[in-house]
Amino acid sequence: MKNPFDNQERVAFRKTIRSFVEKDIRPYAFEWDETGDVPWELHEKLGALGFFGFGIDEEYGGLGFDDPFMRAIASEEIAKCGFGGVGAAIGGRGISLDPIQRLAAPEIRDRVLKDIVLGKKGSSLGITEPSGGSDVASLKTTAKRDGNHFVLNGSKTFITGGMKSDYFVIGARTGGPGLTGISLFFVEKDTPGFSRTPLSKKMGWWASDQATLYFEDCRVPATNLMGQEDYGFLAIMNNFNNERLSLIAGCLGMMKAAFEDAVEWAKQRETFGKPLIKHQVIRHKIADMSAKIDAVESYMHMICWSMEQGQTPVAELSKAKFFSTKALEFVASEAMQILGGAGYLRGNRVECIYREVKVMAIGGGSEEIMRDLAVRQMGL
Ligand SMILES: Cc1cc2nc3c(=O)[nH]c(=O)nc-3n(C[C@H](O)[C@H](O)[C@H](O)COP(=O)(O)OP(=O)(O)OC[C@H]3O[C@@H](n4cnc5c(N)ncnc54)[C@H](O)[C@@H]3O)c2cc1C
Repeated sequence: MKNPFDNQERVAFRKTIRSFVEKDIRPYAFEWDETGDVPWELHEKLGALGFFGFGIDEEYGGLGFDDPFMRAIASEEIAKCGFGGVGAAIGGRGISLDPIQRLAAPEIRDRVLKDIVLGKKGSSLGITEPSGGSDVASLKTTAKRDGNHFVLNGSKTFITGGMKSDYFVIGARTGGPGLTGISLFFVEKDTPGFSRTPLSKKMGWWASDQATLYFEDCRVPATNLMGQEDYGFLAIMNNFNNERLSLIAGCLGMMKAAFEDAVEWAKQRETFGKPLIKHQVIRHKIADMSAKIDAVESYMHMICWSMEQGQTPVAELSKAKFFSTKALEFVASEAMQILGGAGYLRGNRVECIYREVKVMAIGGGSEEIMRDLAVRQMGL
């Protein structure tokens, strides 16, 4: 569908990322997924293209501006490679950048942010714990003040980029129960008392790593407290809006890729004397898939427009997040069905996209939590 909000810069940006994906990602994505890694060079190449620079000041290697449409374009185009782990491996740092820029002590921010934004170093945000991720207010990792230090104890899990990152933004309890009482800390990988282990085999996102992080009397200088004590999590809640926008755009990119491959196959494959695409049942599948893609795309554009106007459309982002993961589930399943047995073989985009559905439906705010948040935001 034509996007009425497109302008020259956005069209040019899409073209740049699309041709990068075609040339530097798609030919290798399957192999990276199978081996469970992407070369670090990819982080640096995308960093040089400004991929991580939205909302980041130029002095830290950022673009010096933000644009929700371009953020969405970046995620959509990367997702079209079909191997979600590739996008996760490089984009994982995204959720820690704004907290570092806004809340880290100037000494820390000036020392580390540019390298992360340029893709030279990795960073991760650690909120989820083995005891749960949805109920953030109940997180158990503690940080106790001891003179000029805080001492962290506890663990985090499912942390994207956790095995490779040099820097971590960690949520830990400094105060009483609830969301107020959670502070954020900047932790470096070599800090004594910090260790990590990789998650075992996963359903998808193979090209990216997720880790469990351990804090055992891990002492960090008090200056590593990010923002106001006890109000760290509240200070980054808006950050999740950009993460959700990226996930919605990622769903859109994967849906478009699965649709493209299914249509291509349906044109070539013949059954009962005619191409699949001429069978009415298949035509209806294509119509349903296409309608869902259009709906997600139009909804996302309106959300981007609203964000561009300076609004914070939390309810719409929450609704679009679960709407797009449900749409992706449908499109991935129907695309697999159209490909038949060929879709079941490893190495094609549709097979991988089918495996990536659940991480999109669970990570970054699960479908259940998004529905709950949307209805609360509607004042009900
Ligand atoms: C591949 C991957 C990468 C991730 N990367 C990161 C990362 O970088 N950093 C990070 O901090 N976290 C990360 N996460 C964690 C992710 O945010 C959590 O998995 C998510 O928040 C859900 O938490 P949980 O898995 O502990 O499920 P739980 O919170 O235990 O919930 C289990 C199920 O119950 C549902 N549920 C929970 N409460 C309710 C309720 N009140 N009503 C109805 N249903 C409910 C949930 O929706 C979910 O379906 C990642 C997860 C995955 C899978």
